[in-house]
Amino acid sequence: MLRVQVRRHIPLLHYMVASYSVTNIQKPLQNVHYTKLFINNEWHNAVSGRTFPTVDPSTGKIIAHVAEADKADVDLAVEAAKHAFKLGSPWRRMDASQRGQLLNRLADLIERDRVYLASLETLDNGKPFSVSYQLDVGETIKIYRYFAGFADKLHGKTIPMDGNYFCYTRHEPVGVCGQIIPWNFPLIMQCWKLAPALATGNTVVMKVAEQTPLSALYIASLIREAGFPPGVVNILTGYGPTAGAAIARHMNVDKVAFTGSTNVGHLIQQEAGESNLKRVTLELGGKSPCIVLADADLENAVQQCHEALFFNMGQCCAAGSRTYVEESIYHEFLERTVEKAKARKVGNPFELDTEHGPQIDKKQFDKVLSYVQSGKKEGAKLMCGGERFGDEGFFIKPTVFADVQDNMRIAKEEIFGPVQLILKFRKIDEVIERANNTRYGLAAGIFTKDLDRAMHLTQALQAGTVWVNTYNIIASQTPFGGYKESGNGRELGEDGLKAYTEVKSVIIKVPEKNS
Ligand code: NAP
Ligand code: MG
Repeated sequence: MLRVQVRRHIPLLHYMVASYSVTNIQKPLQNVHYTKLFINNEWHNAVSGRTFPTVDPSTGKIIAHVAEADKADVDLAVEAAKHAFKLGSPWRRMDASQRGQLLNRLADLIERDRVYLASLETLDNGKPFSVSYQLDVGETIKIYRYFAGFADKLHGKTIPMDGNYFCYTRHEPVGVCGQIIPWNFPLIMQCWKLAPALATGNTVVMKVAEQTPLSALYIASLIREAGFPPGVVNILTGYGPTAGAAIARHMNVDKVAFTGSTNVGHLIQQEAGESNLKRVTLELGGKSPCIVLADADLENAVQQCHEALFFNMGQCCAAGSRTYVEESIYHEFLERTVEKAKARKVGNPFELDTEHGPQIDKKQFDKVLSYVQSGKKEGAKLMCGGERFGDEGFFIKPTVFADVQDNMRIAKEEIFGPVQLILKFRKIDEVIERANNTRYGLAAGIFTKDLDRAMHLTQALQAGTVWVNTYNIIASQTPFGGYKESGNGRELGEDGLKAYTEVKSVIIKVPEKNS
């Protein structure tokens, strides 16, 4: 069934191939249907034999059924990862530079299959194909290459310690890493976690999101093709409360890295605490403010705040979901913002000019529309959207609310959908206090031409990333993560490697004199 659906888009694929590079599509489309669990470089049915469907969110129809892992499968995968991590194993004996070469090889294979992977991502997730191709697959390739380069450049130190001793530090892999990822950027979330873990020599058991298993399983096939030894990477499809929780609780998992909602983040930390105190890193939700000062370049601010929220149908952890606008420009900003939201092209994500696809599933679709109802009920002014688009799939029209107050539910909770909220402010100190008055602290945007005020705001805002006159710029080199309940630890950049290594101090007694 998957093949049929992808073939429907062959004219588009031809277009893409023509526009980019013929070398991208050497691998034919018939290489489809990776739907089983990837353990020890082999494909397995779930121990229970159960499967579950994954759905095309633009039609609501089933694409394929994939294996449903639970605790028994997690046990097998952890065993494989533990075995692959044993001292003396091929992975542990491998030169660091060779680990880097394997990651580069994986990046090359992803580049070879770029059109196919982008098609799969759009089919399973609903995001516009042009975005899947350029951003999702493009960034994935860059991130594997970035971390490949680090594999043999993780130096320890020699330390001039007190006493007659020689001290040096080694950065060693943590061990078996459990990784649990969400559905909004399936390929990117996968490489943010896999690349640093592998560059530093760990082994991995990853559970991917139930809504978007297909691109991750295809990457598993490329991991095998690249030549990673068996057991180094194990990829499971299954549900959070069963397979995910089994990873977080497992006594032989040394670290868990989780991206998802803040509520589940609390559970993961608890499960780690109740089991073996495994190391925990968390990338969680947000309610990020965009602050537009009266002196800002208005056209740029309107455009950036629009993308800050509507990019990926609002399904971004860093979405700029509270737009604070200074009183004197509020009306003009609002007018232009509504115009832009109405003009956003919604539709079939495989059409190249589509900017806006469906929400990921019925549950998210219903949740977003229930927030729209709540906004209306609490007195916010609905300026456009607020309803479904079309008659199939999970599309929601780009929605803008004006006159939003901080105490409304829509202004406090993460909507994770295409609902932009415009709030008015008068003074800088007032907006700083309001922007920081949230359990979250993932990102923030500032729009102004005044350098002094920009500097003041960048320092005052409690957020892991602050953008000035731009938004959503994330690169492999820049650390990303949250303050407060938006998470623990950082991913990407050199900081992203810290969570995947233990620092060992080696202290050697130096003889007093030659004997
Ligand atoms: P979610 O419900 O927290 O799910 C994320 C992952 O955790 C999924 O794989 C899920 O499994 C699994 N999971 C659910 N319950 C679990 C449990 N009890 N134990 C272990 N694992 C469990 O989040 P989501 O709704 O899929 O994703 C959206 C959220 O992720 C938003 O809040 C967003 O802000 C956040 N996010 C943050 C970042 C960041 O970098 N900070 C990036 C992307 C997304 P299932 O497959 O069963 O759902
Ligand atoms: Mg799907």
